[in-house]
Amino acid sequence: ENAQLKDIISHAKEYGFIFPSSEIYDGLQAVYDYGQMGVELKNNIKSLWWKCMTQLNQNVVGLDAAIFMHPLTWKASGHIDSFNDPMIDNKDSKKRYRADVLLEDKAAQYEADGHFDKAKDLLVEMGRLLGAEDLDGVRELIVQEGIKCPVSGTANWTEVRQFNLMFSTQVGSVAEESQTIYLRPETAQGIFVNFLNVQKTGRMKVPFGIAQIGKAFRNEIVARQFIFRMREFEQMEMQFFVRPGTEMEWYNQWKETRKKWHEAMGIPSDKLRFHDHDKLAHYANAAVDIEFQFPFGFKEVEGIHSRTDFDLSQHQELSRKKLQYFDNDLNEDGKPYGNYIPYVIETSAGADRLFLMTLCNAYQEEEITEGDATKTRTFLKLHPSLAPVKAAILPLTKKDGLPEKATEVFNALKYDFNTIYEERDSIGKRYTRQDLIGTPFCIAIDHQTLEDDTVTVRDRDSREQVRMPISELNSYIDKAVNF
Ligand code: ATP
Repeated sequence: ENAQLKDIISHAKEYGFIFPSSEIYDGLQAVYDYGQMGVELKNNIKSLWWKCMTQLNQNVVGLDAAIFMHPLTWKASGHIDSFNDPMIDNKDSKKRYRADVLLEDKAAQYEADGHFDKAKDLLVEMGRLLGAEDLDGVRELIVQEGIKCPVSGTANWTEVRQFNLMFSTQVGSVAEESQTIYLRPETAQGIFVNFLNVQKTGRMKVPFGIAQIGKAFRNEIVARQFIFRMREFEQMEMQFFVRPGTEMEWYNQWKETRKKWHEAMGIPSDKLRFHDHDKLAHYANAAVDIEFQFPFGFKEVEGIHSRTDFDLSQHQELSRKKLQYFDNDLNEDGKPYGNYIPYVIETSAGADRLFLMTLCNAYQEEEITEGDATKTRTFLKLHPSLAPVKAAILPLTKKDGLPEKATEVFNALKYDFNTIYEERDSIGKRYTRQDLIGTPFCIAIDHQTLEDDTVTVRDRDSREQVRMPISELNSYIDKAVNF
């Protein structure tokens, strides 16, 4: 679909970042596994998010709620009634598509052909029809635009139907006793239902936040763009509870804080942008996406939503349990603010999308000259704190006691950093391999090391080498990794 994306997908596969799920059975659509390098990178993204949320903010604490929740949760949240995507089938190919995506693709085509007004009109009309839930109108628009099925090339469409994105399953063994439950489509609701548990046991005072990382599941109709849209994915969400009336201040503050976080992780600010939602979800009074410039265009990586008191009020109504907070701070009249249902600002990021963003941003190809020859060097310019492996210990040769000395260095570093020892192949090949997985430092042990306990440290990005005492390695790496 896109040459650069293709290169990144094959790189991710070849170097153990991402494999298609159940690949020996030809895979399962929109499901992926993280390989030996991928799991390290993803863990690093998650733990940096966790640390920045819970450790750096005195008033944000963590939670790990179950994936399964009482079915009424999803009634309260609105997911049973309105978590739908409009889908349409092609009668010839029997393939299913998202109606809005077909129209968006058509608009993108208009744009590519320079017909910007046409593109805009189409998107506006689509938004109007979807907003009014006029599904017949959506079908008509698809037919009018002459949109053909990408597979069969025909325009033989069925009607448009709403398709609920939640996966359901049964708990209980006997049919009569069983109950339909859902795999959570977002982690947020586990936070809302525990709001009072955390507030009371943690003696939290509004404003405070609860952060959670966990799997979410959506039966996405179109699965495209690699791990950008998956059926099983991981969210990193934080709900920040505030006094009603102060929500816009907090919304603006979290919006800026979150964008800065992505920049601190090495994403250049010109590859990020805010995109305000034109059409707000039923629960929100303000919403913005942080978008990253992927090879396939600017797309959402994180949403910041002002969710009002919608969720807590809904849960209060359906559970018939009070979900209020008593605020004994004094207002302008010198009286306590008293009881209220807090408003919520949510920051909601996808761990897998941040992973894809990180990979796309890090993937570099550069021309280098070695002697007379020029060649292309591919490497991953990952922020050292995110790199799966921080240092590779490489004895120059397999003899003269170099492997033993190198093992000593390895043992001195392995407790603090994910370090690997490698003695196979030429030193050049070993450097190349580390570049491909994004290892920031390659430490070579040579004959001089045996004499004076110094090593060379090669920098991944500049390819420059510096000589330093073994005793300084730990603090040198630490400075780059723990910023
Ligand atoms: P989209 O419009 O792309 O479907 P969304 O607006 O439905 O996303 P939210 O419900 O706001 O997404 O979810 C918050 C975050 O969760 C998104 O910013 C994204 O990073 C991640 N996310 C949502 N759906 C998926 C998915 N199917 N695969 C991977 N990540 C996802």
